[in-house]
Amino acid sequence: MELDLRNVAPDLQEELNRNVMFTTLETVKGWVRSNSLWPLTFGLACCAIEMMGTGGANYDLDRFGVIFRASPRQSDVMIVAGTVTKKMAPLLRRLYDQMAEPKWVIAMGSCATAGGPYVKSYSVVKGVDQIVPVDVYIPGCPPNPAALIYGINKLQEKIRYEAKTGKRVTSQ
Ligand code: SF4
Repeated sequence: MELDLRNVAPDLQEELNRNVMFTTLETVKGWVRSNSLWPLTFGLACCAIEMMGTGGANYDLDRFGVIFRASPRQSDVMIVAGTVTKKMAPLLRRLYDQMAEPKWVIAMGSCATAGGPYVKSYSVVKGVDQIVPVDVYIPGCPPNPAALIYGINKLQEKIRYEAKTGKRVTSQ
């Protein structure tokens, strides 16, 4: 939204242009939420090593406001990093249910996305989206830290877009 400054003195116009901005509460909420994603510390297999590496000093997820939490009640993102077995599936769902709303899920790697190399196994879930709703899928076996950061950036974009437009974006 633009200010109508036609009847305002030029020096005051400049002052207003520099200091006044209009937005909506939903946009501010989306901006704040997308820049303070707190993932649940939850690694299931080899992909979790890449996730841990992404959180370390070299890649430094903190700069995106991403800080791992040890409790689902303090988390708003679940990064499913690894192979989801049928034995683990009910526990994963329980942790998801304990997370506060609004919450999001990233399926990291081909195992979490679709079963990966174990897709024909009797014991592996063929995609974590059978248990929880997934917002972002990251391909790879394993995806490297740059891929995880890209996936997190996509989730941030999605949160901001949904807040701004009120439209729901399906999985990316
Ligand atoms: S996708 Fe590959 S690296 Fe990731 S958990 Fe599965 S087998 Fe391991």
